Amino acid sequence: MRPRPHMVRGLTAAAAVTLLTGAGIAVASQASAAAGCRVTYSVNQWNTGFTANVSVTNLGDPISGGWNLAWDFAGNQRVTQGWSGTFTQSGQHVSVASPSYANNLATNASASFGFNADYSGTNAAPTVFTLNGTQCTGQVPTSPGTPSNPSTPPSNPSTPPSGPTSPPPAGTKVDNPYAGAKGYVNPEWKAKADAEPGGSRVSSNPTAVWLDRIAAIEGTSDSSSNGAMGLRDHLDAALAQGAGYIQLVIYNLPGRDCSALASNGELGVNDLPRYKSEYIDPIAAIEGDAKYKNLRIINVVEIDSLPNLVTNTNVATCATMKSNGGYVQGVGYALNKLGAISNVYNYVDAAHHGWIGWDTNFGPTADIMLEAAKASGNVKNVTGFITNTANYSALTEPYFTINTNVNGTSVRQSKWVDWNYYVDELTFAQAFRQKLVQVGFDSGIGMLIDTSRNGWGGANRPAAASTSTNVDTFVNQSRIDRRIHAGNWCNQDGAGLGERPRANPATGIDAYVWVKPPGESDGSSSLIPNDEGKGFDRMCDPTYTGNERNGNNATGALPNAPISGAWFSAQFRQLMANAYPPLS
Ligand code: BGC
Repeated sequence: MRPRPHMVRGLTAAAAVTLLTGAGIAVASQASAAAGCRVTYSVNQWNTGFTANVSVTNLGDPISGGWNLAWDFAGNQRVTQGWSGTFTQSGQHVSVASPSYANNLATNASASFGFNADYSGTNAAPTVFTLNGTQCTGQVPTSPGTPSNPSTPPSNPSTPPSGPTSPPPAGTKVDNPYAGAKGYVNPEWKAKADAEPGGSRVSSNPTAVWLDRIAAIEGTSDSSSNGAMGLRDHLDAALAQGAGYIQLVIYNLPGRDCSALASNGELGVNDLPRYKSEYIDPIAAIEGDAKYKNLRIINVVEIDSLPNLVTNTNVATCATMKSNGGYVQGVGYALNKLGAISNVYNYVDAAHHGWIGWDTNFGPTADIMLEAAKASGNVKNVTGFITNTANYSALTEPYFTINTNVNGTSVRQSKWVDWNYYVDELTFAQAFRQKLVQVGFDSGIGMLIDTSRNGWGGANRPAAASTSTNVDTFVNQSRIDRRIHAGNWCNQDGAGLGERPRANPATGIDAYVWVKPPGESDGSSSLIPNDEGKGFDRMCDPTYTGNERNGNNATGALPNAPISGAWFSAQFRQLMANAYPPLS
């Protein structure tokens, strides 16, 4: 039988700058085709580096066979890593060629790519961009611009350029709340990261704030595992930082974490009324305060809950939460209350590929998501979904895909893949997005992937595909996900920080995010009494030999871990050491 793992999830950034090229008339350098383009260039920067997101819109005739966008930096900016394009830099001149899978650019279509760069001094945005040699001025080419074929009108003369506008007025939801916006850096997490050796190299990344109990709304004065700031404190701090968005995790359902113990919460299985009145209502009241109307408030909604109703109803608490409607009604209520606020964005947790990547789980999970969204009264209360929250699944397996055959045998037949239809999170998230749209979600939904701990760098990362002709050996030697079993979820030994948070990294993906704050434990490795409702789950015990949900394998958990949410210094240090992409 296929395992049905229960899986509990199982920068002093400065200004975000958006530059719109605007005025002027395009000068068509080629007589044969009308050319025109518009570029938006936005950065998240810190003292020595920045991440840029670039979008180019083709305002001229359709381009096929490849495009190339070029600019000159004004200073000493140097691209260190680029994505969704092929980058070449010579001195200050940068040129980005289209990726092979996206060589065409129809009229009014846009292509987006991004890069990381370092710099010193000032980081002025480039002012002149050229697309296939034509300067981007933001104007549709005028009709006589095609002298060799003057009778052909520009392909779409009546359509005004759609394109970037200034930020939408407060109250208008944007398609992707991460795009062009700087993320809130949680000062409590930052302080813990900064206290670790070299921690300042990563501590300015935005991480999510977990509202994991009612007391977290007001904040506490004590030593609870997650810190003392309340929701208003964080929102005020976000305003003070000039952040464009803040990420919160709504995580307090009745009967929480029904198939595991490490993140059991304070509310009992029949506490839906308390969840509504003591937890969601106060959060909605604060998120709806007009003071925060220009901040994009992003809620990650209830990790692991709905997927547990699909795969783990053989566990008594999950069966109860299914039959009493606590999860579906609770999620529906949260989506309704929070989704009604015009600057609030809800992303519902959708587990990860190693949990619902089998067909038996894939469709039914999409269906139950729809049920919860409908319980909220409107599927548009959902901006999107998040996968891999607090999990360790690799973003991309570089050395094989689901279609790889080894000596005539599909990798699906390997013990590691075990008939799953996905080998990594990106392919899974993109496919699950399509499934969600197919079952009835808005076609504009976007996905998030938690990349906080799925880097798998360091000395044990394979550098090439295996040459073995045995499918198990091939997969085991080629995979970058070094876990003992994909059902292991607690404090995984050998993991590293993954992709740094950024917007629009791939088709259908709104952002790579750090929702699980790196360095916070998944659960204690032995029983630690506490007043937060947290239990001891043996999947966090390195001496446990497993159960059917991880194929009766060792857990791969680090020893000496504190309760979930508490700072775990040894894990943070290992995550830094094994970061991939490596820390610069
Ligand atoms: C814990 C929460 C914590 C979160 C982030 C979860 O496993 O149950 O209390 O806030 O992780 O670290």
